[in-house]
Amino acid sequence: MRIRPRAWLFPLLAAATTLTVVLVAVPEDGGSRGSRTVAAPAPAPAPAGKAEPDARDVVLAVHGGAGTALVRDETSPEKEKAYRDGLKKALRAGKKALDRGATSVEAVEAAVNVLEDDPLFNAGKGAVFTADAGHELDASIMRGSDLKAGAVAGVKHVRNPITAARLVMEKSKHVMLAGQGADDFAVDQGLKPVTQDHYWTQRRWDQLMDAKGKKPSSDRDEAKGTVGAVAIDAKADMAAATSTGGMTNKMAGRVGDSPVIGAGTYAKNGTVAASATGDGEIFIRGAATATISNLMEFGGKDVAQASYEVLVKRLPKLGGSGGVIALDAKGVFDAPHSSEGMLHGYLTKDGKLVTKIFKEESPPNQ
Ligand code: ASP
Repeated sequence: MRIRPRAWLFPLLAAATTLTVVLVAVPEDGGSRGSRTVAAPAPAPAPAGKAEPDARDVVLAVHGGAGTALVRDETSPEKEKAYRDGLKKALRAGKKALDRGATSVEAVEAAVNVLEDDPLFNAGKGAVFTADAGHELDASIMRGSDLKAGAVAGVKHVRNPITAARLVMEKSKHVMLAGQGADDFAVDQGLKPVTQDHYWTQRRWDQLMDAKGKKPSSDRDEAKGTVGAVAIDAKADMAAATSTGGMTNKMAGRVGDSPVIGAGTYAKNGTVAASATGDGEIFIRGAATATISNLMEFGGKDVAQASYEVLVKRLPKLGGSGGVIALDAKGVFDAPHSSEGMLHGYLTKDGKLVTKIFKEESPPNQ
């Protein structure tokens, strides 16, 4: 089946959102205590110059994008629960895969699929709008054992772009497919196409109107919202995945860092699995995630030092901000970000789920 290239223009009702999955430490039940639950840490001062890992013995982490932090006093219990639930659901999906002995690739795909289907995040359903009121989605996935990778860019009819990216990795001889060819490949591989209406959400539409100066947005937490995941499996193989709708009001045809291997996504056994979120052009120019791996492999830095160096020291000098979830081969995890906030969560090998959505749970690194 072939999809008419611009059939989506006619309903003009689609909205896109970028999703990034990051695991954050949050109580499993969103607040009450449970034996496998870790409460979010007490507010702590912003760690100036921090290059210490956030957690150890992590097997899976997800992020839901960098941008403006959620403000505790202005966030309703329902909204807090929705964000934490979204991240936890993604973590649980990845955990289920790991528990049954699946690979880290399967685990990150499962986690990102959940975030792509959650309208709160800017990936899959809920993706942001392009300047011409459409949706163009980007995603990539990488396997650390052999550096195989797959990506799709600018797809308009794929419900779960990370699954299409995995199919590119596993079923084609290429690394990245873009545009119509990528949409057609996904259909040829058996993925049921969606219309642009699938991605639509009122919130993303309001953000587009806001960006065009037509309507003031009341949303403070939305700014980005790309999703991503990193994992390590029982064989110690690592994987990373990132999926996004890109940036609100982006030019038609614009491709960000999320589908670019070495920019938005990188995984290499022995160094790091990393998924980034932030100003995509800067992450491409700074080769963000590959540089983290290289600083570890050739520069003698640990995962916290390397990701801090890239996110806090180097990328802001290029004029952009954002964050990364980074997991090393021993389960040491860090999520440094120069943006005000970054939604994320993680799962430890003994089954604890942690989510972080408020600024004081995950202050920006300086
Ligand atoms: N990095 C994404 C992009 O530039 C946006 C984001 O992370 O929210 O497309």
